[in-house]
Amino acid sequence: LPQEFIDAQPVLKTLENAGFEAYFVGGAVRDMLLNKPIHDVDIATSAFPEEVKSLFNKTIDTGIQHGTVMALDHGAGYEITTFRTESTYTDFRRPDKVTFVRSLKEDLKRRDFTINALAMNYSGNIVDLFDGLSDLKNGIVRAVGDAEVRFTEDALRMMRALRFSAQLEFAIDFNTQQALRKLAPNLEKIAVERIRVEFEKILMGSQASESLQIASRDQVMAYLPGDIGTWDLSRIILDLESNQANTTQIAWIHLLARSDLNEKKITQFMRMWKMSREDIKVTSLIVPLVRHIETVRKFQLYQVYAYRDILLSVLYLMGVPDEKVQQIDTNFATLPISKSADMAINGADLIMTGLVKPGPEMGRTLKMMEKAVVLGQLENKHDVLLTYIKELKSDDKN
Ligand code: ATP
Ligand code: MG
Repeated sequence: LPQEFIDAQPVLKTLENAGFEAYFVGGAVRDMLLNKPIHDVDIATSAFPEEVKSLFNKTIDTGIQHGTVMALDHGAGYEITTFRTESTYTDFRRPDKVTFVRSLKEDLKRRDFTINALAMNYSGNIVDLFDGLSDLKNGIVRAVGDAEVRFTEDALRMMRALRFSAQLEFAIDFNTQQALRKLAPNLEKIAVERIRVEFEKILMGSQASESLQIASRDQVMAYLPGDIGTWDLSRIILDLESNQANTTQIAWIHLLARSDLNEKKITQFMRMWKMSREDIKVTSLIVPLVRHIETVRKFQLYQVYAYRDILLSVLYLMGVPDEKVQQIDTNFATLPISKSADMAINGADLIMTGLVKPGPEMGRTLKMMEKAVVLGQLENKHDVLLTYIKELKSDDKN
């Protein structure tokens, strides 16, 4: 067994010794069987939350209303969730009520896809009630039970189907895909934040292009935020066929740089997707640079400096020819410094002056000076920078 499971075995043992059933479940089991890196090891048990809490010295109620308790064991935290069923989804998104049960089978039945409905016991034996192993082997994303019923219960599962397909390079089973086509309109009822998380995983998946093609063909895109369904995705799909975005920021910048939206519309679009302030800021700074990389203006040099790596990744993803990308390094080479550490002054120096307090103010002051140095407005010399800060602070006081 991979180390992540070995570390968590004592938790299963504790539950079993108390007479309960306990299994590893979900993504960790799937990823282990695919020889992929394991993220968090989730545990499911027949013990009810109060019973779980009584068995461990230290627990945190991370989601006790859904039956999840985190047990702290030798410095690590493990999410332990009581076997449960979910009933009557009146709003196509969250179950109205979860019921704790003692049966593993009931718990596996409520899971989304067969590949996610595998359980593994202490000894590493796999419980496979829905042919998840064969779907894993054949590379198929298949809903547990009737796909239409499952997507009607929770529309987010349609995004998840596309997401797992993109990430794992799996095909989507025929019936599951038909249900997707039929029920895609229900996606409008899902919270944008939850859609965004899955959509970002699609964009970053190694098989993003196929999933986006399915999403367009099956009218899924039409129900996603920001009217993205009206876009021509062909260029984006082509880029993603040969390359992959490694971060959500790179994925969004790529998507938006390739879109027909002007800069104002881009900001509106990102608000509709409820992207973070930081992502909105960075994206709106970089998209214009990506689009006009041959003509970087002087005032944009600091952006080139600060976001060089993201910029290069996006250009690479877009297949921009090397000569043009070279332009960035040509610009870069003219800059007085190439990284923060090249600054001739640091936080400790500032504190010594007694003029700047540690904390956010200091960070801001350093950034401001760095920007001035990059733009050639301040010379990168210790004395010059010290004098500058002294004058600045005495101006502040007057
Ligand atoms: P990842 O590696 O991305 O975390 P995961 O399979 O662990 O993938 P999670 O979202 O962490 O995905 O969910 C853990 C497990 O909970 C899933 O494997 C699945 O069994 C179940 N699950 C999660 N979301 C749903 C859902 N919307 N409907 C049914 N089952 C779900
Ligand atoms: Mg997970």
